[in-house]
Amino acid sequence: MYVYGPVPSRRLGRSLGVSPIPPKTCSYTCVYCQLGRTTDLQIKRESYFPKEDILADIISSAPEGKTDYVTFVGDGEPTLNKDLGWLIQHTRDRLHLPVAVITNGSLLSRKDVREDLGMADVIIPTLDAGNEMTFRAVNRPHRNISFDSMLRGQIDFRREYSGQVWIEVMLVKGLNDTEEELQSIKHAIDMIEPDRVYVLTPIRPPAESWVKPSDPQTILRAQEIFGGAVSVTELETGQFGLTEFTNARQAIMEIGSRHPLRSEQATEIELMFSESGVVRQMIENKELVNFKYNGVDYLLPEHFARGR
Ligand code: SF4
Repeated sequence: MYVYGPVPSRRLGRSLGVSPIPPKTCSYTCVYCQLGRTTDLQIKRESYFPKEDILADIISSAPEGKTDYVTFVGDGEPTLNKDLGWLIQHTRDRLHLPVAVITNGSLLSRKDVREDLGMADVIIPTLDAGNEMTFRAVNRPHRNISFDSMLRGQIDFRREYSGQVWIEVMLVKGLNDTEEELQSIKHAIDMIEPDRVYVLTPIRPPAESWVKPSDPQTILRAQEIFGGAVSVTELETGQFGLTEFTNARQAIMEIGSRHPLRSEQATEIELMFSESGVVRQMIENKELVNFKYNGVDYLLPEHFARGR
């Protein structure tokens, strides 16, 4: 199954998520990644799955009138799928819905990737650093990706692309949120000239247990330095689309493997399927593990919690 949701997104409303990538396949292994550590760190673009199957799944999963965006996001980096341009184009043609791509932006130095993303309506690239050293500390990229090539790619894409570019900056306490680091990120943002900037901080369980969210006053300072950036530091609210699932257990495992579920969200899913007691049973069977992060209780699938 390649499609999940619609899920409530803090920027995209009700977003139908599409993952065209095998789990944890990425060109980065960010310290804050909510998917855990990358297991396949790579930069080679591949056709991972039959593109017609992904498209069929997108078309059959989009509930009419209930989706604001189809979002290619992936259980890793979506631009590693070399069929991405074809998928974006056919999704737009068939569904007449706006398409967004959430990408780490590392492959935008490649012309084929820029051409593929050029077909989407909104591109949301990551920019967590303004220099090589911090880039390596936060994003831990593949050895063949340098800060300069990543930044050059984002600048070139912005110049060629007429759609919306919304940069996301994830601030990690003590790593990229000092005054000096924020000024350095601002310098890089100015070179790209995006339409919007969002400031985030890890609010869901990260890959590395030592990662902590930035303080509220630091986030305010970042918003100010970045010229009125929007803060997206609240936990999302709203219900998950569950039509493609046949029971609560399946829904909790599939959604929870991509999007860490707070305890109350798992219980809501249980209630929506009228399957009282399923969550408790899954905890007893050790399919779900209790995990506390930043004062919030999560229930993570056991394989997803391992190593954190
Ligand atoms: S946060 Fe995104 S870019 Fe970073 S490792 Fe996870 S999937 Fe890759």
